[in-house]
Amino acid sequence: MDLYSGHINKLIEELAALPGIGSKSAQRLAFHLINMPGDKVRRLTEAITVAKENVRYCRECFTLTDQEVCPVCASQKRNHKIIMVVENTRDLAAYEKTGKYEGVYHVLHGAISPMLGIGPGDIRLKELMERLRGEVEEVIIATNSSLEGETTAMYIAKLIKPTGIKVTRIASGVPVGGDLEYIDEVTLLRALEGRVEL
Ligand code: ZN
Repeated sequence: MDLYSGHINKLIEELAALPGIGSKSAQRLAFHLINMPGDKVRRLTEAITVAKENVRYCRECFTLTDQEVCPVCASQKRNHKIIMVVENTRDLAAYEKTGKYEGVYHVLHGAISPMLGIGPGDIRLKELMERLRGEVEEVIIATNSSLEGETTAMYIAKLIKPTGIKVTRIASGVPVGGDLEYIDEVTLLRALEGRVEL
């Protein structure tokens, strides 16, 4: 039995497909949206559309950006010989917020997870290896300390070792399974400073 109109059902269905939104939240959001003033809803849908159409991957580090090359990669003040590998753009933002990291980044957009069927070919690893053909002194692996993050770190370290480029891993002390974006800046900096060579 359809309790709501078809349009509301469709909206709930779409919202529930978003990460972290269960069916209850989807219902709550759907009714909230319906009750919002029309111009507010238009602003929201426009923001989504404009973001979707204009945001792209940085040509260098593959973070999400409005330009062809992101501000970090475009900066002459950054040390382009040090590359920090992170799982996603949110992790990059967490390190940028500390204001203390002077190198550049490489965003993998995921982590290797045999359980979820995500292999090395599904993340931006090939692109990382291509970047290492340039002048690179150190690769800092800052993937999460989850099982997937550690698996990815080990895989990357093995891949890079033969090139002779220094590979380091941020210190643990970052809570296990903790998303980097939720960790405070002091902990992030300590993890970065305490990095160990692999
Ligand atoms: Zn970039």
